[in-house]
Amino acid sequence: MLSVLYTEEENLFREEVKAFAEREIAPHADEIERTAEYPREVLRRVGQAGYMGALISEEYGGTGKGMVWETIIAEEISAVSPVVDVSRGVTSVYFAPPVFKFGSDALKEKYLTPIVRAEKIGAIGITEPDVGSDTAGMKTQAVKDGDEYVITGEKRFITNGSQADYILVFAITDPSVKARKGMSAFVVETSWPGFSVVEDHELMGMRGARVSHLKFDGVRVPASHMVGEENRGFAVLMDELDTERTSLAAGAVGYSRAAFEIAIKHSVERTQFGREIRAFEGISFKIAEMATKLDAARLMTLQAARRIDMGLPATRQGAAAKLFATDAAQEITYEALQVTGGDGYTKQNRTEQLARDARLMTIGGGTAEIMKYIIQREIYKDRGY
Ligand SMILES: Cc1cc2nc3c(=O)[nH]c(=O)nc-3n(C[C@H](O)[C@H](O)[C@H](O)COP(=O)(O)OP(=O)(O)OC[C@H]3O[C@@H](n4cnc5c(N)ncnc54)[C@H](O)[C@@H]3O)c2cc1C
Repeated sequence: MLSVLYTEEENLFREEVKAFAEREIAPHADEIERTAEYPREVLRRVGQAGYMGALISEEYGGTGKGMVWETIIAEEISAVSPVVDVSRGVTSVYFAPPVFKFGSDALKEKYLTPIVRAEKIGAIGITEPDVGSDTAGMKTQAVKDGDEYVITGEKRFITNGSQADYILVFAITDPSVKARKGMSAFVVETSWPGFSVVEDHELMGMRGARVSHLKFDGVRVPASHMVGEENRGFAVLMDELDTERTSLAAGAVGYSRAAFEIAIKHSVERTQFGREIRAFEGISFKIAEMATKLDAARLMTLQAARRIDMGLPATRQGAAAKLFATDAAQEITYEALQVTGGDGYTKQNRTEQLARDARLMTIGGGTAEIMKYIIQREIYKDRGY
């Protein structure tokens, strides 16, 4: 698919990732969906192919190609398996880049290369039983004790949680001030005493994902494992969320595209009233609307990604891309299901899986309502209000 939006090099890269996804991931996608097995081996192959390291420099095993390349990877992998891309994104886009940007050289040396090669799996721990959208209400505490911090608290809905080797944990280090000014981030190894998995949540979709409730019961973490400065964790979190949202938007474009292609194929193969169903305006206009939303979602995602690569602020653009692309993905996957009729409601047809998978994404990574809050806040801020 040659696109005028991308450079020749980017278009070629897309072809490469697409071929990889079809060869190495697609043959396993149905089995992952059927058995809900965590796709660790598939992730390893993704790492070997170099698709875990677009945001990490070559020094630590990545390609350093940046956010546009990351969005190409996310779109192409999501098109064949949304759950493989979500599991990949958490380790390579949410865990690794904050360590790369804000971590010490020693932390980078130790933790990045195994993550980029997918020999180890990463996760990010923000959400808690009582803390979701309002991350500033965080309760998990990290109390300094000599050269260590002692982390106590619970984290809920942590993707890769029970499978992760390392978790970037956000915790309060100064409870006397507001969380924004008293939060820090730490790399925690899940083999350390005091860490436990309470349970893996049972999910509506994204079968094969492991999204877990975790407990930190006095986990002792070396002070050197702090990512960024003490009490400046909120800035690390905000920086991470721009890339996370842009990657999630790209993933939404990928699985929307997959549903869209199924709908087109069905609309030319299925005949009713003596005509292909595409001949009915009720169907063909759905195709037109899906295509338009898909194009808009990709443009918005690309805008956010290019801004990140250029070092420009991208908070509004990343939030808007995530809001639009994930909303569009729900509409597109649902409409694709409608176009495929009774077939679409069966497990033989991928649209029912794509619709369930897509449903997550106006919640995870920040809800649609919170994206709107961020967008309006940035608009007023830009104008000095
Ligand atoms: C499958 C899955 C995977 C996840 N993975 C991770 C992960 O890896 N790491 C991690 O830290 N978290 C993860 N999350 C957590 C996710 O980020 C939160 O679920 C999300 O931020 C919303 O928090 P909440 O579920 O507590 O909902 P709440 O914050 O309780 O919100 C409930 C409802 O109220 C609305 N609402 C809340 N505040 C406002 C407001 N100010 N204005 C308007 N509406 C508002 C919300 O939009 C939502 O509709 C995951 C969640 C899921 C479901």
